[in-house]
Amino acid sequence: TENVITSENVRLYYGEKEALHGVNLDFKQNEITALIGPSGSGKSTYLRCLNRINDLIPDVTVTGSIKFDKKDIYAPDVDITELRKRIGMVFQQPNPFPFSVYENVAYGVKLAGRNKVSKQEMDKIVEDSLKKAAVWDEVKDNLNDSALSFSGGQQQRICIARVLAVKPEIILLDEPTSALDPISSYAIENTLLDIKNDYTIIIVTHNMQQASRISDKTAFLLDGKLVEFGPTQEIFINP
Ligand code: ADP
Ligand code: ADP
Repeated sequence: TENVITSENVRLYYGEKEALHGVNLDFKQNEITALIGPSGSGKSTYLRCLNRINDLIPDVTVTGSIKFDKKDIYAPDVDITELRKRIGMVFQQPNPFPFSVYENVAYGVKLAGRNKVSKQEMDKIVEDSLKKAAVWDEVKDNLNDSALSFSGGQQQRICIARVLAVKPEIILLDEPTSALDPISSYAIENTLLDIKNDYTIIIVTHNMQQASRISDKTAFLLDGKLVEFGPTQEIFINP
């Protein structure tokens, strides 16, 4: 399969400080790629280049090239709102809005400008998204309850459902399970394995076991440099 995202010589500066020193990495459809490496190695920074969310931090400069679907995502004419619909993101801390479960998932769809969705269609999108995120059975009888009334693991799957509802092509996850207990973490891992055939998934994790359990490819970052990249089974073979 072809690369969906290709990044070449990506450098990122926080002010004067170079945090990424020329990263070349590419990602294929239907694959999960794990970004691993010690704390401070640049995993989150690199991930946040892929949907341009670093743009929100003042004084950040990104150089090099990142192509998504063969187009440079840093080109001047890129519509960043459109880009972020195609590239969804899940954060370390589950961050549902303080609204109902239903509204949380529907909100993404409304935000994506699909306002003309009928109530009936929206019901279906909400149900399908929560099912894909493997949390439907746990929330279906309480869709009008605040998302905050659920456990951390359930909240994180609600957040995944919110991303899925927008129908992204790429899903970025930044340590999505590190705030969760092991059972909830496994639930998230299984969710990612269930949905991976429809997406390109890139996950930052400091958990090597997690990377080896779920990823097809592993990229190892150290001090802002890519030091290893390849099929996960090859990366995790003992030296
Ligand atoms: P994690 O390792 O879990 O990603 P960090 O402690 O690295 O968490 O970062 C938490 C937040 O603080 C992020 O938003 C990051 O951008 C910001 N941050 C990290 N290091 C610095 C720094 N040296 N100066 C300013 N902000 C920072
Ligand atoms: P990781 O995700 O691997 O823990 P980060 O990408 O969070 O690493 O951080 C990489 C480096 O960039 C670290 O030295 C961190 O302190 C620095 N950094 C991260 N965010 C910021 C920020 N907003 N401002 C300044 N420095 C930052």
